[in-house]
Amino acid sequence: MSLPFSVAAATAEIAGSDASFPIRRIFCVGKNYADHAREMGGDPTREPPFFFSKPADATVAATAGIAMPPRTDNLHHEIELVVALAKGGTDIAPGDAAACIFGYAVGNDLTRRDLQADAKAGGRPWDMAKGFDRSAVLSPIRPAAEIGHPTRARIWLSVNGESRQDGDIADMTWPVAEIIAELSTYVELKAGDLIYTGTPAGVGRIVAGDLVEGGIDGIGTIANRFT
Ligand code: MN
Repeated sequence: MSLPFSVAAATAEIAGSDASFPIRRIFCVGKNYADHAREMGGDPTREPPFFFSKPADATVAATAGIAMPPRTDNLHHEIELVVALAKGGTDIAPGDAAACIFGYAVGNDLTRRDLQADAKAGGRPWDMAKGFDRSAVLSPIRPAAEIGHPTRARIWLSVNGESRQDGDIADMTWPVAEIIAELSTYVELKAGDLIYTGTPAGVGRIVAGDLVEGGIDGIGTIANRFT
């Protein structure tokens, strides 16, 4: 039968290419920088990172205007290194993880912090706090074939030109290879998966009119106006 509708597959831009990256799933790591774990009231020495998800079609382009999402009075920015997979597997050894990586991008894991706080207090899921429409800002993906596998690079975010987050991806509690290894013990990873790898300290509120700029040296930048 022929259906009276169609559904577009979610894709991401690849820097310097007309090809697009097909997005299968979006995974995110919580509390992967010690300074951010502390600012959220956690103890980085005792709490291992944990995982949550966003829908594959939650991405929004690095330079897009973004309407303020509904049902929140406290939208937060979280600048993050994003890993894009070209292949996956289960129980991937850390030493085999790099071979799974297609490339890297800059992301902003937008968070309805008030809904997240309510969910934490009520022991409820984070989906509506984290997985809403246009909640995953994503820069064009830089292929690892071109830039290698960066382990040390400045990661920063500013709002209206004022610095909010300024760290280094070298300070991740769990490096990319260990994230892929650990995540692959929970789910089978596959080509098309994106992993948002956590944010450094300095998360904060975005209000209508703000220009949120950020980047990771050698990987890319984002610049989104919120309306
Ligand atoms: Mn995050």
